Amino acid sequence: MDYVSTRGAAPALDFEQVTLTGLAPDGGLFVPREWPRFSSDEIAAMAGLPYAELAARVMQPFVGDCLEPERLRELCDEAYGRFAHPAVTPLRQLDERHWLLELFHGPTLAFKDVALQLLGRLFEEFLARRDERLTIVGATSGDTGSAAIDAVAGRENVDIFMLHPKGRVSDVQRRQMTTVKAPNVYNIAIGGSFDEAQAMVKRMFGDPALTGRYRIGAVNSINWARLMAQVVYYFAAALQLGAPQRRVAFSVPTGNFGDVFAGHVAARMGLPVERLIVATNVNDILHRALSAGDYSVGEVTATAAPSMDIQVSSNFERLLFDCGGRDGAAMAAQMQGFEGARTMRLTEGQRTGAGETLTSCRADADDMARAMGWAWERCGELIDPHTAIGLHAARAAHGSGDLPRDVPLVTLATAHPGKFRDAVERATGRRPSLPARVGDLFDRDERYVELAGEYATIAAYVAEHATAG
Ligand SMILES: *Cc1c(COP(=O)(O)O)cnc(C)c1O
Repeated sequence: MDYVSTRGAAPALDFEQVTLTGLAPDGGLFVPREWPRFSSDEIAAMAGLPYAELAARVMQPFVGDCLEPERLRELCDEAYGRFAHPAVTPLRQLDERHWLLELFHGPTLAFKDVALQLLGRLFEEFLARRDERLTIVGATSGDTGSAAIDAVAGRENVDIFMLHPKGRVSDVQRRQMTTVKAPNVYNIAIGGSFDEAQAMVKRMFGDPALTGRYRIGAVNSINWARLMAQVVYYFAAALQLGAPQRRVAFSVPTGNFGDVFAGHVAARMGLPVERLIVATNVNDILHRALSAGDYSVGEVTATAAPSMDIQVSSNFERLLFDCGGRDGAAMAAQMQGFEGARTMRLTEGQRTGAGETLTSCRADADDMARAMGWAWERCGELIDPHTAIGLHAARAAHGSGDLPRDVPLVTLATAHPGKFRDAVERATGRRPSLPARVGDLFDRDERYVELAGEYATIAAYVAEHATAG
């Protein structure tokens, strides 16, 4: 399998290269040249497999010759062996129609562990083979940072520098990053917002003072390998609910559009996905785009679901490319227009293509709190604010009656409620506990530097501390 850029002007890469690369040099995102497809019989034969084995089977066509099947299986065993539930991503039934797909049983309590635990191992494997080092730089509003740090802490040939906006991530989120002691982990608290931190990280990718000395790598969901790993749990859930004989719908709390794009990939691969519901909070650019074709950037509003407080969703470009005829030159022109004007219209082709499986729904703070209340009072489940937005959207789709009655509705539970205790307690009156595996988080020492939010200072810090290859 090789990978092409959504903007059509970058050389194709194999899986190993695409894993070690962030953005394509033409500014686009890498996608597989074509979608591998499983027949109905092949999907039926996956029923009942242990998660790690299912993962290796679903991912093998994307990996191609870059890993032997046995080696891929070993890496999956290691990555998913770190999850606290034997099913890795268990399904939990809420009522006769609604299900939760619990994606938060990894080390840092959010779904990002599912992909990053594997990605950390892929980095190590490929870097050792090439005898290279990788300097990962990232910015986080919370969940990505802790999941990425856990995934690469102590690994060979990798350093990680993670920027977080000082005072704007939760105590649990910060401690999950700053209490990691491995010498290859550097936490940097910067004055300023997440967007400012993110802009500095982007600048590092194009800074010759850094790129001349180090191979700079990305761990956010522009990395294809992350999306690939997320395709697996759509298969796992649908198989348990009767696929390929039965169709299944998913509601996905969405920010950067990585998780729901993985659902789109699963559908392209032959999984019978009836519907993917893109659930947004009041930062609703994706809802406006999918319902009215209007993709225009507004102000970011801070909500109780911070991982969805995003305006520009990087992975949306992958969907537009795939649904709009896979025309790289047209995509490049459309995105260049958008980057200048901060607004664009989806083409008719993109709207029709996306509309085949995707719909959208927006939830405000009251919708979110009501969904948390319903899950607790009716089903005895505490759910986190992100999951609540997904559940609101699923219940709205159910209520509107435009889904066939026998289609189960699976809401992706993207974070453990213990990660957002104050918001959960406000909505339900119950304070969720933290699982035992992170129990002494508040007793461990923290280690991080505070730097002014100036590019020169931060770039100098990275240049000084990174290990040259
Ligand atoms: C990252 C995150 C999301 C958004 O996922 P995307 O792939 O960026 O759309 C939703 N919920 C939680 C808890 C997250 O950490």
